Amino acid sequence: MYLIQIRCYKDPKRLRLDWPITSDLVAVSDLNGNYLGLADLKVVAQLSLETSMIQKLNEWLAQVEWYDNHRLSIILECRRKAYWHLLHRGGLAQRVGPGAHAGSTVHAGIAAYEAGWGRIPESERRLDAFEAMRDTHNRVFGQLREEGFALDSRHELDNLVDIMDTYFDRFLEEDHLYRPIQSEMAMCVPIRPQAGDPLHFTDPFWYILRMDGLWRREATGDLYVMETKTTSGGVKRELTRHQINRQGTGYVWAVRQFPEGEACVGVLVNVVGILKDKRDYARDVETKSQTMCESWRRQTINIVEDWRELLRRAKTLTLQERLDMFYQDDKQCMNYGLCPFHDACYFGPVFAESMPTNTWTPFQVQQPLREAVESE
Ligand code: SF4
Repeated sequence: MYLIQIRCYKDPKRLRLDWPITSDLVAVSDLNGNYLGLADLKVVAQLSLETSMIQKLNEWLAQVEWYDNHRLSIILECRRKAYWHLLHRGGLAQRVGPGAHAGSTVHAGIAAYEAGWGRIPESERRLDAFEAMRDTHNRVFGQLREEGFALDSRHELDNLVDIMDTYFDRFLEEDHLYRPIQSEMAMCVPIRPQAGDPLHFTDPFWYILRMDGLWRREATGDLYVMETKTTSGGVKRELTRHQINRQGTGYVWAVRQFPEGEACVGVLVNVVGILKDKRDYARDVETKSQTMCESWRRQTINIVEDWRELLRRAKTLTLQERLDMFYQDDKQCMNYGLCPFHDACYFGPVFAESMPTNTWTPFQVQQPLREAVESE
């Protein structure tokens, strides 16, 4: 089991790290649960993310069967989309739009703001947040600018900073109640057969996740997975969507696999509206019972087993037969904007030959950090 801190700040020493394993160390075990030892991760916290450690993790990922929330949800969404993104030529890249870049900018601000909790004045934390937003905005929108892309006024840095300034005002009192323990945590947790699992499940796989943060409610000691979603649609609608969201349940299940994580009771869902003339936010706590988490685990096993069965059947098929087997769900084509594989579906596999392939892993920051919610 890996538990890794992967986000670094200008001054990592300013982070208060209460999570015993992540401060400096990663506990390493193999897929059979054999404990292999502790590795020092200080180097990851202090150097840029293009370190040999990140490379090693990515090499390791290339050799194991792993699923994260993104992979699982794309498999559930549209079989053809899963085929394009996970299989065709090793998987086609999913181009990330400006909505996701704005989401990354907001997430960078929140992470920097959290880093100063309880140690530096709130006004200084805001400045740290805005600085982090500026750096991230330059990085993620840089390429689009080079390509001559005209930025929507909602996504301009000034607007995003103003949105977050109002957000910090709005949750000023509530944020005092929760101590951010860690931002941008990655976890790799094996899912192995155990009593009560579907009988056909015999081969383990890895569940990989990268959560926005882990917070502790100071009064009770309870832990919460903190997930921030950005949306250009209605924040209330987005909050409702997350009440039975698989992602949050899976993250809580994963945190509870660590002895220090047993106090995790649920998800603190945070929704930030990326709007031009209105400031809109929503926040709620979704508690996750043990029954929900165990059900999430068994459902995940069934999703993976169904996917494995498709892969087995696809092995001997021609390309056309394969495409027919990974059938299209056209209700998904315009969900959150145009599907990134629409042209491959519309013009056919010849067009897909010119599309770049997917190299993204949850340990990278150069590529999309997350799928921002974008309801146009
Ligand atoms: S365009 Fe529609 S059918 Fe094709 S992969 Fe995307 S969601 Fe599926």
